[in-house]
Amino acid sequence: MDFNGYCVKCRKKRDVKDGVVTQTTTGRKMVKGTCPVCKTTVTRFLPSK
Ligand SMILES: [Zn+2]
Repeated sequence: MDFNGYCVKCRKKRDVKDGVVTQTTTGRKMVKGTCPVCKTTVTRFLPSK
């Protein structure tokens, strides 16, 4: 899925394409993708609904 996450390397919000949704051990969902600018992994927690 596409999402907007914060890239710690760019220190900016980036629109990430083709992020992969995963579930943490605590049951929270998060999406993980790659920054289109610097290729750093960008993650974002999803609302738990
Ligand atoms: Zn970046």
